[in-house]
Amino acid sequence: MGEHKKLEAVKEQLAGVRVVLVRPKYGENVGGAARVAHNMGIRRLVVVGLELPEQAAMEKMATHHAKDLISGLTLAPTLADAVADCSWVVGTTARQGRRRFFLKNPAQMVDHLVPKLAHNQVALVFGPEDCGLSNAELELCNATVTIPTADFSSLNLAQAVGVICYELFSTMMARKGVAPAAPSLASSRLLAAMYDDLEKTLAAIGYLKEADLALWRHNFSHFFNRIGLRAREVKLLNGLCQQVQWLAQGRPARKGEKK
Ligand code: SAH
Repeated sequence: MGEHKKLEAVKEQLAGVRVVLVRPKYGENVGGAARVAHNMGIRRLVVVGLELPEQAAMEKMATHHAKDLISGLTLAPTLADAVADCSWVVGTTARQGRRRFFLKNPAQMVDHLVPKLAHNQVALVFGPEDCGLSNAELELCNATVTIPTADFSSLNLAQAVGVICYELFSTMMARKGVAPAAPSLASSRLLAAMYDDLEKTLAAIGYLKEADLALWRHNFSHFFNRIGLRAREVKLLNGLCQQVQWLAQGRPARKGEKK
């Protein structure tokens, strides 16, 4: 494939990728992130928060090249809303805390991600400058990644966006042929509903009485998110939950059924 054709193919594959910035404080960082995302072939930027940072600061750093990303920027009230239709969500974190999971370096993260591009919407998620992503936000992620550093683990937000987007773009450009395509996976919205259903079911059979609810949710979401479930596998688990809840309620008559 010629260089130009390759670039067009990579850009097309990247159309399903969005960069999500969670509660960014500084417009300059949003502008800087937009610019480098644009440099690396990514066309969609979402900000999580109640209002956008200052427009002038964003535009100044984005320059006119990335102005489309800034004018097309969408605002979502929560990370769950920003990634509801995504079926592969990558969180980035400077700190590898005890409850952080599935940490991969950028190259490994890209190896996992590229096959998903064929049939899935993908999000690359970045945290606020002061505190990074919360544990609850990391629970929405299928994988988390840390950029290795020699000293002081935390990069500037826009620079972290640059490193991750560069790794993705440059790996895709260097690859010969087409990556094997992973199937279409369950969306984040579907998974969240399944965790609610599981929680209800485990409460119904007394499993959660002594367990710490937050820890339970953390462990289960880690387990299922990492696998990357398909929609019909989620349906299977939903069906199982329905049946267990029905048994736990003492088998009440079902619609149209005589007792
Ligand atoms: N003080 C925060 C760091 C915030 S930096 C903390 O200790 O968590 C803002 C964001 O840039 C982070 O939430 C993360 O998304 C990204 N980032 C910064 N350094 C990074 C690193 N080494 N690896 C991956 N992401 C990083």
